[in-house]
Amino acid sequence: MHCPFCNAPDTRVIDSRLTPDGKVRRRRECGACKERFTTYESAELTLPRVIKRDNRREAFDESKLRCGLQRALEKRPVESERIDACVQKIKETLMRRGDREVPARIIGEMVMDELKTLDRVAYVRFASVYRSFEDVSEFREVIEGLESEPST
Ligand SMILES: [Zn+2]
Repeated sequence: MHCPFCNAPDTRVIDSRLTPDGKVRRRRECGACKERFTTYESAELTLPRVIKRDNRREAFDESKLRCGLQRALEKRPVESERIDACVQKIKETLMRRGDREVPARIIGEMVMDELKTLDRVAYVRFASVYRSFEDVSEFREVIEGLESEPST
């Protein structure tokens, strides 16, 4: 976004929050003249592009996120409403970050955090695929990590 004061192309988001009417309010600072200004953007437009492992960029795909969650939660006793809530929460977190691009890895970590509280079997399932465990000891680390946390 160009600075409205000096038209420099380089502005930085210093704060980003969702407003009750679904817009994103952002405070930005110009890298050149240091002026600060506020923008309001519609939330639909602000999901970041995803940086894949091979460095390609692609549009954020909500259905892909949902599929990943559903696959991990297959045959688990978790209502689809909770999956929806989970997708929504991850989207809001991404919007709140205010980044234009986000590594796929970060989204994967968010999914793991959500699954950890949602369903531990699904969490281990997702983690094993996502982190593509090389050996049993890595797998054991994740399980032990779970056990050392207070259960919800
Ligand atoms: Zn400026």
